[in-house]
Amino acid sequence: MTQPLTKAGRRAAVRLRTLALRRAISAMDFVVTGTLHRRTKSCGRTGCKCADDVAERHGPYLEWTRRRDGRQRLTVLTPRQAALVESAIANRRQIEQLLAEWDLITEEEILLDDPKSL
Ligand SMILES: [Zn+2]
Repeated sequence: MTQPLTKAGRRAAVRLRTLALRRAISAMDFVVTGTLHRRTKSCGRTGCKCADDVAERHGPYLEWTRRRDGRQRLTVLTPRQAALVESAIANRRQIEQLLAEWDLITEEEILLDDPKSL
């Protein structure tokens, strides 16, 4: 059975964890919000195969939607851009999780000295 950590031990554990959080965040390059969709479309031209057969629809088109200045933006991407956006969206989600964890351990650290706030 492990012994409970002393205050100094808990502080040291928090410092180590925040160091790991900072390193994880600083290792990321691209970060964006939004959603990536892979869509096929029918063109509406008379006689085109896409009108009756889902498998004959045009595309797929790689569409990135996100909010900018309070408005929804949509951009059709190249496969290379889509790969970057996909990775940047994953980075954004991971940073949000890391920040939530950082927030919690910061609260613990700050409240360590004040039993009245518990
Ligand atoms: Zn068509």
